[in-house]
Amino acid sequence: MNKFIHICAFVISITCTVIGQNHLCGITHEDESSLMPDDTPLLRPRNALEYIPIKFHIVTDNNGGGAVDFNNLLNQFDQLNIDFKPFGFQFYLADGGDLPILKSTNLFEAPRDFPGEIQTQRYANAVNVFISKNTYDSSNGGVIAGYYTRMADHIVAQTGYIGYKDVLTHEMGHFFNLRHTFYGWEDDPYDELKHGNPVKSLTAPSYGVEVELVNKANCQKSADLICDTPPDYNFGFNATGCSFGKQVRDPNGDTVITMKNNFMSYFNNCIDFTFTKGQQTAMQNDYLGPRRNYLRNGYVPILDTIKEEVKLLAPINAQRVETYNNVSLTWTEVPYATRYFVEVTDGKDVFRAISLTNSYTFSDLKANKVYIWKVRPYNEGFTNTKLVFSTFRTGISTTATTELTGSNNFVQIFPNPIFGGQEIGVKVKTGKSGDYKLMILNTLGQVVRSYNKTLSVGENQFQIEGNNFEKGIYVLRLQNNAIDISQKFIVAE
Ligand SMILES: [Zn+2]
Repeated sequence: MNKFIHICAFVISITCTVIGQNHLCGITHEDESSLMPDDTPLLRPRNALEYIPIKFHIVTDNNGGGAVDFNNLLNQFDQLNIDFKPFGFQFYLADGGDLPILKSTNLFEAPRDFPGEIQTQRYANAVNVFISKNTYDSSNGGVIAGYYTRMADHIVAQTGYIGYKDVLTHEMGHFFNLRHTFYGWEDDPYDELKHGNPVKSLTAPSYGVEVELVNKANCQKSADLICDTPPDYNFGFNATGCSFGKQVRDPNGDTVITMKNNFMSYFNNCIDFTFTKGQQTAMQNDYLGPRRNYLRNGYVPILDTIKEEVKLLAPINAQRVETYNNVSLTWTEVPYATRYFVEVTDGKDVFRAISLTNSYTFSDLKANKVYIWKVRPYNEGFTNTKLVFSTFRTGISTTATTELTGSNNFVQIFPNPIFGGQEIGVKVKTGKSGDYKLMILNTLGQVVRSYNKTLSVGENQFQIEGNNFEKGIYVLRLQNNAIDISQKFIVAE
């Protein structure tokens, strides 16, 4: 775990001075001590795979600024499933995968200062994860990477740590009842000069619990209450990365062999972070217990693997579109995708959408600017997909006669939509005469028709045979060595 520590309010001097260098967990003493993990065999039989709804609340300021990078969020969701699926927890996105923005400067700046507001936003039937610029109160600002509050039963994670491998998994461990492996040493990590070697006291510095012994004599009532996690006197806090070379002995004089790669420890950058079997059982017991009734709704989510990458159809790369107030983006549909995350950015402003179809029109871009546009498909249970991107330049026109045209060119298709068997009328205005290749592409990016056309300066009008087109969205693309323009059209029946 990247180093986590309890909030400064409870911490005296020494630990406070190093807080800024670490990625801190903000679970409170009160919340953590109320976690009572049970690693005895399962309370109830469980399914091979339990489907767990998760609701991400993407918190921004009142103007919609500062949202988490959605691409990182989709990565993060995938990472949760990588970490939890091996022992039967499959998360899925609530609401079919919609990722709406929650505009609230209060929650953006200091979620903990506004418990009432956070409570009204909470979903009744999902794990609630609020993603915010700051994760704590105004005094702790950006110091805390994340926390779980058992009292209010939600996770808050800092925007900057989303996509960061282990932070959300650690907090999800707390959600499902796990304590830190070093419970009792949160505020006062092991220090040989202070605590001795062997450790002198039988009582851990915090919470009044016993120091966990290597011989497991007290593992059921000390530290994290889980017997297969070896003693950890918060060795991770002062360690560099995922290593700890010191030989520390417990109060019996037995050498502690700690587990560095435990998600609930404070070690940094371990490549193989894991939960022990005991921790897995404790989480399963929590899930099956009455406290988690609200997660067990019997819904079987879409989990199909999306293998195909989308292809960006229009605008084509580096194309100049005619308008800026009505820019329509089209890409290929891919099997099993139910949502497409779309983003358009000029490097400064970011415009985002979740589209249910393979196109989206942005109406708030600026004139004559180069934009990068990105698309990533996903469904409610599967987000391990590739983001693809391309560029275009907006035009200066605010009219929307054609959605997509090339520089000094103008394409119209009529009628649009086209009904079964109708001829497709094409009007092209060009400033340059010559031979063009005219192609019609389907939403998979496949060329379904191809013609050679000679166009003259000015307006050209011609017909294309309309038979044998299946219902759907198509792109007409006109190309020669100087020009490459596209126009979308629909075949309705
Ligand atoms: Zn923690």
